[in-house]
Order: sequence, then structure tokens, then C-alpha cells
Amino acid sequence: MAKRNLGLARRVIAVANQKGGVGKTTTVMNLGAALAINGVPTLVLDLDPQGNASTGLGIQIDDPDPAIQDVLLGRSSLDQSVRTTMIDNLSIVPATPRLQEDINILPTTIENSFRLRDAMAQAQRWHYVLIDCPPSLDLLTRNALAAAQSLLIPLQAEFFALQGLTQLLLTMRTIRKTMNPAIRIEGVLLTMFDGRNNLSRQVETEVRSHLEDLVFETIIPRNVRLSEAPSHGMPAITYDSRSTGSEAYRKLATELMRSHGRKPIVARR
Ligand code: ATP
Ligand code: MG
Repeated sequence: MAKRNLGLARRVIAVANQKGGVGKTTTVMNLGAALAINGVPTLVLDLDPQGNASTGLGIQIDDPDPAIQDVLLGRSSLDQSVRTTMIDNLSIVPATPRLQEDINILPTTIENSFRLRDAMAQAQRWHYVLIDCPPSLDLLTRNALAAAQSLLIPLQAEFFALQGLTQLLLTMRTIRKTMNPAIRIEGVLLTMFDGRNNLSRQVETEVRSHLEDLVFETIIPRNVRLSEAPSHGMPAITYDSRSTGSEAYRKLATELMRSHGRKPIVARR
């Protein structure tokens, strides 16, 4: 019998922006945690050789266990490389700095851009898969865009926020034409928003007028808890669940789930 609710199929979201430090990793960790706390099995794929999502979720990344590079090079299956985190329902395939060396040996071809997608074929038990991309448009990000159904773009609320987006959207268009015709934009997320600052508000107005309903209603405020939490090996959602940053990421999880026809539970504090 066909599954009744096709809307509940796995959703793979690449979190990307080639600009560095815009909140990609913070979004992956906290959105992932918020989804998991909602009871939704969620997998984080750390596709950044910096391994920030891995350390930020409490994973030791200097040990020899399988990591994402082993998945990409076919040395290990995705299932063998998944680790649990301290948060129920939240798993991760970590990255180590060796990822960069390993990926450098591969030429940037269309064939090599399908490595992640192919490795993920059997991994159907998660409802959300969030891919943390490096700040570049290299082979790693191409693998993420080839494997994903959608692209979530964190955008720092600062002057020139929209510059740089053009390059990312062009890359997505190329990927759509060549590798992944179905990929779409999940949403643009304004991050590090400072409500007391006029500039933040001006940027919001500009971004919303250009990108309209592609922009998430939820805005992530600048909040020190979001930057402190990773040094304790956890996302802010668990480090300080009452912080404004945590609240915003819970709201984002609810907005995302609603847009996919999923009923969020009321998040417990
Ligand atoms: P990279 O391109 O290097 O991978 P990134 O886009 O993943 O960076 P993050 O690592 O998430 O960005 O964030 C950059 C820095 O800003 C980090 O120190 C992080 O803790 C901090 N940060 C992110 N979002 C916020 C926020 N909303 N409020 C305060 N600090 C934040
Ligand atoms: Mg990052």
C-alpha cells in the first residue's frame, strides 16, 4: 500500500553560503537540535573540514573512526559513520580536517559531485537531514547541492548582505541544470540581527523586498549564548534553552515543519 502522507518523507536541506561566518554551522546545530527535540529524527552531515558542527555537538573529531570523508571516498557506508549526540533523535556524521586533503585528490567533475547523494540513498530513517557546508562553492558544496532537495541560506544582517548571494544562486542554477533539477530554495534566513541597530532593520527591508516570500519569517537575533554554547560541546538550545537565540531557532523549526505539513509539538522549556 502506498504511504498515506508523502509530505513526511525525508527532507534533505543544504545549509550553504560561500561567505564565511554568516551562521551556517550555528543554524545547522540549533535547528537540528530544535527539530530533534520536537521528536523528529534528524541527521547532521558535517561537510566542512573545519568540523565546527562536529565539535559543537560534542563529537571528538581527532579519533580514527569513520567520518564524512570516508563516506565520500567509499571507505565506509553512511550508516557505519553515523554517531549519536547527547540529544535524543539527533545524529551526526562528523568531519575532521582530513576531509580537505581527501577531497583535494578528487577532480571537480559531475561524477564526483554525486558521491554524497549516492551514499545517502539507503539512509532513509531520518526525517530531516541538514548539511553544513564549508564557506566555498567547491566540490564539497556541489556534493551537498546535488544531494539536497533544498537550500537554506543564512544571511548576516549587515550592509552588502545581498552581494555574494548572486554567486550562490548562479551555482544553484548550474546544479539545477546539470545535476539536480528538483532543488529549490528552502529559505533565506536573516542571522545575527540586532534590533537596536537601524542597519539591521534596513537590511531586513531590503532583503524582504528583493526576495519576498523566499525569506523566513523567523529572524535569528545576535545572541551571545549562540556563540558561547559550542565551546561547551552543545548547541544553545540545550546550553541555555531560554536564551533569545534558542527561542528563535525553535521558532524556525516550527516554521519549517509547518511549511512541510508537519505538526510541531509544543517545545518544552
Ligand atoms: P564558516 O563559514 O566559517 O563555516 P558559519 O557560516 O558556519 O562560518 P558560524 O560558525 O555559525 O558561521 O558563526 C560564525 C561566528 O558567529 C561563530 O563564532 C558563532 O558562534 C557566531 N554566531 C553565529 N550566529 C550568531 C548569532 N545569531 N549571535 C551571535 N553570534 C553568532
Ligand atoms: Mg561553519
